[in-house]
Amino acid sequence: MSAMSEAVSLGPAGQPEQPPLIQLQGIRKRYGGHDGAPAVEVLRGLTLSIGAGEFVAIVGASGSGKSTLMHLLGCLDRPSDGTYRFAGQDVASLNPDELAWLRREAFGFVFQGYHLIATESARENVEVPALYAGMPASARHARSEALLKRLGLGDRLDHRPNQLSGGQQQRVSIARALMNGGRIILADEPTGALDSSSGAEVMALLGELADAGHTIILITHDRKVAAQARRVIEIRDGEIIEDSGAIAIAATSTALPPLDMSRAAHDTGASLGTELLDAARAAWRVLWINRFRTGLTLLGIIIGVASVIVMLAIGLGTRQQVMAQLGAFGSNLLYMASRGESSRIPGRSITLVDLDALKDVPGISHVLPNVTGNKVIRHGNLDVQTYVRGTGPALPQIQTWPVAKGGFFTEEDEREMATVAVLGAHLAEKLMPDVPNPVGQSILIGNVPFQVIGVMSAKGALTGEKDEDDVLLLPFSTAGIRVFGQREPTYTVMAVADVKRVTEVEAAVDATMFERHRIRDYGISNAAASIAAEAKTQDNMTMMLSLIAAVSLVVGGIGVMNVMLMTVRERTREIGIRMATGARRRDILRQFLTEAVLVSVVGGVAGIVVGVTVAALLLVWDVPVIFSLSAVGGAFACAVVTGLVFGFMPARKASGLDPVVALAGQ
Ligand code: ADP
Ligand code: MG
Repeated sequence: MSAMSEAVSLGPAGQPEQPPLIQLQGIRKRYGGHDGAPAVEVLRGLTLSIGAGEFVAIVGASGSGKSTLMHLLGCLDRPSDGTYRFAGQDVASLNPDELAWLRREAFGFVFQGYHLIATESARENVEVPALYAGMPASARHARSEALLKRLGLGDRLDHRPNQLSGGQQQRVSIARALMNGGRIILADEPTGALDSSSGAEVMALLGELADAGHTIILITHDRKVAAQARRVIEIRDGEIIEDSGAIAIAATSTALPPLDMSRAAHDTGASLGTELLDAARAAWRVLWINRFRTGLTLLGIIIGVASVIVMLAIGLGTRQQVMAQLGAFGSNLLYMASRGESSRIPGRSITLVDLDALKDVPGISHVLPNVTGNKVIRHGNLDVQTYVRGTGPALPQIQTWPVAKGGFFTEEDEREMATVAVLGAHLAEKLMPDVPNPVGQSILIGNVPFQVIGVMSAKGALTGEKDEDDVLLLPFSTAGIRVFGQREPTYTVMAVADVKRVTEVEAAVDATMFERHRIRDYGISNAAASIAAEAKTQDNMTMMLSLIAAVSLVVGGIGVMNVMLMTVRERTREIGIRMATGARRRDILRQFLTEAVLVSVVGGVAGIVVGVTVAALLLVWDVPVIFSLSAVGGAFACAVVTGLVFGFMPARKASGLDPVVALAGQ
């Protein structure tokens, strides 16, 4: 005992006189008085002291204010007026967390309607107060089991409330009241809903607890029940009309050790880890019980996450494919063609002399003149119209387009205007469907016979509508003179030795050409620019797809919010029970947030599975798809964040409920 206690006056027995455990002074409670409802004063100036270890019955007719009084005594509600001192401390000075601590450590509630949590077993119901007190799991299990055994429910540990009789449920709720010690048992019509023998059992139990030193405050409208208590207080219309008076208690022998009120301020409750685990377990149970509804909510999240994953995979895949196709042209290539009027003025267009000059531009490794046009090609009696390209022997190398069969024409073929031809892969299929190896076959362009010396590998690329593999390649000189009758190139491809210097070399080419022509009658472009442009359109496309996917994720989140709001509404009573047994606001907040997050986590995982499966199926159907770990992780993270964000509002609504209001809920 501290020095302060010694200053307190001493009782007759020479012991320090404790302040009464419960001391009410002029307590009033009014309801209504706002939004039109007439104000009703339910408690009208109650003054009352109850000592530790007393067994008190508060008796009165229905509507006399007994339950209201009990809610005030149990710190589930606050009086409109007057002071309530608990162990000498004014309860009005305690904050919500301290009140939660007091409910948890000092009180045990027993209600007429039992108020058990329907989704939890007898054992779990008994353990709820200990959960909020942070008792370790093993100690909790041992104590709940011992309590239930003591109350004759050893074989009903895992039964749910609806599998128990009324008397059994009431015994479970008494065990719950005792879980954290139950110094003061507040029993509101505990026998009201029971048959007479169960009622007698419960009363006997309360008598035993009183003998063991618990303070019992029993509320009843039944005088016969009240008579079993050691002190009877009668109230009528919110006022005490009779009090049989306190009976002196042999404090030392039976009373439980007094509660150390200074602990209220330092209470930490349960540790985060155990709470989270228990909250997750309880959340899982609730979700499982409502599995149809949960399933529908999950569906929203699953669709959201899966579509984010699929859309991103398609976006990335298409981008990659387009890039690869463009890359096949080579990003180190420059293209040049005549432009405007002068392309038709003889002597003004780009000539082979120009190209000779360009060969000396630093950084240029190859200059490839091309002459092109559509021609009809004959093989046997098959005529096929195709794109003919006269080009240089360096083509396979600079366009990274390998020859599949046979060989390519050489500088010598070029010089000698050899009548040799190389087929594009698709042209070979079209022109010689039955010939396994076209090399050595002879074809006709007009009346000029050409010998096939090679077949290109398939490029698989489309430029606009044009199939790049439906092409006939000839030496530039042969094509120009013998097929098209012109010496000037239609367009020119130049390879830049160093990819990083493409723009620089392009400028040098332009300078050389301008010096020669004095007019920009030619156009130069490079593949790098078109690749960049294409990449940008692709990225925009991916962005849009992702946006649509994200919207569906938000819709999923709204589903979570909807179901959480419903859950909070349906479980208002449960929230009240949890608060009455000592849950703090943040415990309730955490519980409902856990449910929301659990839905999103389960939905997120299922969404990943569905998304990856769908994308894999698309892959089978040749849709280009690329999985990225960051897209999958991002979609999952979004789902969880959505659950948190959309679950927060309902969870906060639940945690903000007043304990009495929640208890009175459905
Ligand atoms: P008892 O438990 O003795 O039957 P209660 O304490 O439940 O009585 O109620 C006493 C009176 O207070 C009743 O007339 C009841 O209508 C009124 N009352 C109780 N709770 C509220 C409330 N939340 N709002 C308005 N009136 C209430
Ligand atoms: Mg009542």
